[in-house]
Amino acid sequence: MKTVGLIGGLSWESSAEYYRYINMFVKEERGGLNSAKCLMHSFNFAEIVEMQHNGEWEKATQAMLEAAKTLERSGAEAIVICTNTMHKMAEVIEGNVEIPLIHIADATAVKIKEQRLDTVGLIGTNFTMEQDFYKERLKKHGIDVVVPDERDRQAVHNVIYEELCQGVIKESSKNAYLTILSRLAEKGAQGVVLGCTEIPLLINQKDTSLPLFDTTYIHSNAVAEFALK
Ligand code: GLU
Repeated sequence: MKTVGLIGGLSWESSAEYYRYINMFVKEERGGLNSAKCLMHSFNFAEIVEMQHNGEWEKATQAMLEAAKTLERSGAEAIVICTNTMHKMAEVIEGNVEIPLIHIADATAVKIKEQRLDTVGLIGTNFTMEQDFYKERLKKHGIDVVVPDERDRQAVHNVIYEELCQGVIKESSKNAYLTILSRLAEKGAQGVVLGCTEIPLLINQKDTSLPLFDTTYIHSNAVAEFALK
């Protein structure tokens, strides 16, 4: 089994899900007492959020790169960024370590294509919905992306940082998200990427008939497959 290097704490609420899922997949495959070989570099999320919201992306990139290099030096055989947003610097990391990076959007694209969809909605942080790094990566796989309008984007973003990343789950936010999902469907989305690793703590496939792509689950699954290959 290979050792995977997780960059977590972004936030720890979803890192805990990664840890649980990756171990669960390894156990499903190998059985008994088998569990995943992994290392985690876990950030103080408050420090990273401050950089994000101040637009200090160079500083954030250096912090992420340092984490990736530390994991590589410690024996990790792949890098896993346990968040969608911080895939903004995935290519810089890919270019500066020798080991592969298991990209969350690539893993998600495989699942979208398995369902033969070509247009999906994307919800996540404003950084993920508004900047190109994530949408372009999906487009490279032939997938078109629609995002909510500005007011809905801000609502989605605020719930992520003010509630989900702090472990707060509210019925009112769940209903607001479901309304936003139906508006995405009206805009042509055949399914929706839950492009923030905390969103599956709030909504899941049982809540809607629209196909949902849970990036935490999908990414963890791709990581376990890599580890077991
Ligand atoms: N975990 C979230 C994501 O998947 C947001 C946290 C972050 O800003 O990295 O994008």
